[in-house]
Amino acid sequence: MGRKFAQVLLLLSMSIAAGLRAQNSPPHLIARGVWFMTGDTNGYSNTVVIEMRDYLIVVDANYPGRAKELLAITKQLSPKPVRYVFDTHAHGDHAYGNSVWTAAGATTLAFQGVTDEMNRWEPTRWRNALRSRADLQATGENDVQRPQMSIAGDKLTLNDGTREVDLLFLGWGHTPGDGYVWLPAEKILATGDAAVNGPRNKLLDANIANWPKALDKAIALGPLHVLPGHGDAGGIEVLQGQRQFLVDLYAAVKAQADAGKKPSEMQIELPAPDNVWFPVGRADLRQQDIETVYLEITSHQPAGATPHEWR
Ligand SMILES: [Zn+2]
Repeated sequence: MGRKFAQVLLLLSMSIAAGLRAQNSPPHLIARGVWFMTGDTNGYSNTVVIEMRDYLIVVDANYPGRAKELLAITKQLSPKPVRYVFDTHAHGDHAYGNSVWTAAGATTLAFQGVTDEMNRWEPTRWRNALRSRADLQATGENDVQRPQMSIAGDKLTLNDGTREVDLLFLGWGHTPGDGYVWLPAEKILATGDAAVNGPRNKLLDANIANWPKALDKAIALGPLHVLPGHGDAGGIEVLQGQRQFLVDLYAAVKAQADAGKKPSEMQIELPAPDNVWFPVGRADLRQQDIETVYLEITSHQPAGATPHEWR
């Protein structure tokens, strides 16, 4: 191989690697009619687009600014309209764009726990975010629009003969309303922030002791593709790693709490693989995680059940 050609190949492979890590990545085709986009600029979450016979399903409404971009992107993917937008949970980066989608004719839906969380925390969180987010200010709205359909129970199946899409509630993990999207034929699982790929998960609204049990159910589905709420797509190892981090963090904090230590006195070192999820180099975020687990242990209820401020 000529040296010049090798250099070109190297540059090409570097640019492909950079492209895979790029923010707001272009739609990546996971299976026929299933696209995944990371959306990590401006606080955006990831997006999944699923093509049905006559319409599209979008997983996570995102922030309003990203929702507007996604309306244009989905038109490039398919001439079919977006009929359903599923909020995996109530956090702003996943749900604050609801009104953008419904104005465009889509129906927003989520598990009942998502609406309950919004009714519990909003509009306080929206108003706090409004100060720093131009896209929220541009809506002229003062509160998040609630999902138009609240799903009771723990499963809703959409099946139009071309594809089955199961919306699943597997228990209180990241938030009380965590919804997963499972495509049984393609073995694709979209997780929202119940599983992320990177140190991106705030635990403030979580049930940290129960979360691994919810992830056990997700792992038992046997997904080939795991599409997280933040970070790159992966396989079942994303679920396993997220689960193990939570188990290890809980155990480490519990051991030190049992020894009489307060969070400010704790030195928590986790096994190296957990550092994908435990924010390396962000002592403040690590401390927040430690304090949140400590709160759950000492309050004898899910961390998210204790009134708290979003920070
Ligand atoms: Zn998120």
